[in-house]
Amino acid sequence: MTMEIYIAKSAGFCFGVKRAINIAVASADSNKGGDIHTLGPIIHNPQVVETLEKTANITAKDSLDDIKGGTVIIRSHGVKYEEINEAKRKGLNIVDATCPFVKKTHELVSELTADGYFVVVVGEKEHPEVQGMVSYGASADIVVVAGVEGLKAIGRKKKIGIVAQTTQSESRFREIAEFCRTIADEVKVCNTICSATSVRQEDSVEISRLVDCVIVVGGKTSQIQGVWPRFAGVYSPIRTISRSLPRYQLTGSRVSISLAYRQGRLHRTG
Ligand code: SF4
Repeated sequence: MTMEIYIAKSAGFCFGVKRAINIAVASADSNKGGDIHTLGPIIHNPQVVETLEKTANITAKDSLDDIKGGTVIIRSHGVKYEEINEAKRKGLNIVDATCPFVKKTHELVSELTADGYFVVVVGEKEHPEVQGMVSYGASADIVVVAGVEGLKAIGRKKKIGIVAQTTQSESRFREIAEFCRTIADEVKVCNTICSATSVRQEDSVEISRLVDCVIVVGGKTSQIQGVWPRFAGVYSPIRTISRSLPRYQLTGSRVSISLAYRQGRLHRTG
């Protein structure tokens, strides 16, 4: 049986990830000596991390304690403010590949807290991007919530500022913003959800109407592995994979794929 493959028009790396990889490769090309490390994986994709290590000698380190000198590349989803300061203190050559959209969230958290807002970060508390955002607060008046439940105990506030992890869903963000309006005199909503994310989410829903199964390709720790199934799964079953998909798991005659994986008859949705 010939299987028809549909590839979402937005499939592939986003602007921030491509930019971070290009910056890392350029750093390796112009390196005049010394080790080059990334602080944490440069993106949540183990294949890219492995390739950078093999081809450009760029190794990922989990902590600044493991980096004794040379160059440190800051990953696309950013690091904590204190880590940047520590890297400076150690005299490392810092190459900042933080996505500009993530950097914008750092600035907003900093400004809002400095202006006396209680800041609500819509996101996943354990995600490094969110931990980076929170670290830029000028005060401790920050809470990270994944839903309105997390706000029910905070009581009434004078001013609330809302910022989102860039990969959050619009519907969740809107719901939380609406709730904040009921518990604060003033609410400043800063929608920092990246369009690269929302476009991919919309494409996933759209393409899931056409196929028997959706395959999302991404690193196991990537946000897409947690967020995408909740969207694409609305219309057809979804499998998330980081490398290859066992053949027996493919059922049906029409399959959609979120990143390049080609076989059989190929359709593009745009
Ligand atoms: S903010 Fe958007 S463009 Fe930047 S890394 Fe995240 S998803 Fe990619």
